[in-house]
Amino acid sequence: MKVLLVDDAAFVRMSLKEILDKTEYEFTYVEAATGADAVHLYKAHHPDVVIMDITMPEMNGVEAVEKIKEIDEHAKIIMCSSMGYQEKVVDAISAGAVDFIVKPYTADKIVHAIEKALKLT
Ligand SMILES: [Mg+2]
Repeated sequence: MKVLLVDDAAFVRMSLKEILDKTEYEFTYVEAATGADAVHLYKAHHPDVVIMDITMPEMNGVEAVEKIKEIDEHAKIIMCSSMGYQEKVVDAISAGAVDFIVKPYTADKIVHAIEKALKLT
């Protein structure tokens, strides 16, 4: 399945890929470093699931969720945040994100969130 990884830090996207590559599922990736890129790439690739950072330059994660949901009301977006961003996570959920993961990411947390979002289990 196709995953859109959105984070302004390249090493975070890389570690997400490493984690996902070790799971039982087969993923292909599209990567974005800003909320604006995420919106463009969503339109172009229609990924099955989006893993979205909250704080990014050029459109934050919450705004990007709003825009993506305008493009596709069924978009499955999982928010990622550090501790201390609970308020923004609430905003993201009300904008239409399906779930959130708090850093540090673990394979269990991510896979569980994806399975839940796509109703794989
Ligand atoms: Mg960030």
